[in-house]
Amino acid sequence: MPTFVRTDKCDGCKGQDKAACMYICPHDLMKLDMDGSETGHAMKAYNQEPEQCWECYCCVKICPQNAVEVRPYADIVPLGGSVLPLRGTDSIMWSIKFRDGSLKRFKFPIRTTPEGSIDPYSDKPAADISKIEDNGFFVECNGFRPGDPNELIAK
Ligand code: SF4
Ligand code: SF4
Repeated sequence: MPTFVRTDKCDGCKGQDKAACMYICPHDLMKLDMDGSETGHAMKAYNQEPEQCWECYCCVKICPQNAVEVRPYADIVPLGGSVLPLRGTDSIMWSIKFRDGSLKRFKFPIRTTPEGSIDPYSDKPAADISKIEDNGFFVECNGFRPGDPNELIAK
């Protein structure tokens, strides 16, 4: 289910150097058509190679204009349908459009703590950059021995 940009909603991230969808795509698929020479839609983003899309939804979720839709090839959603998430600070709303035109929305909570309040490294030791080349640096700190290359199975 690759992504497609709704040109009626995309604002080209207001002409910033790099659009949000371009920044986030791990496969470098999203592109802003600056002058419209590639798609006929100036300052609108598009998915350059939908068949290469990983379907990771990163561009869908990051788009501030809610302009990126997921459309199926007919695998798990029939052709003509679409999936559109709208992410809030504490929930996500999925709008599912069926090919007969009917629309269903599902809203789910996505967090139980205030946004920005999580400190993922709070109980971890500070990094010692002098050990950056050592094997098992991080796990060693937590009581595990580092991996021994001699224990690898040789073929
Ligand atoms: S992130 Fe959304 S608004 Fe920004 S360029 Fe991409 S599709 Fe358009
Ligand atoms: S769904 Fe993921 S891989 Fe596909 S275009 Fe968006 S960010 Fe790139």
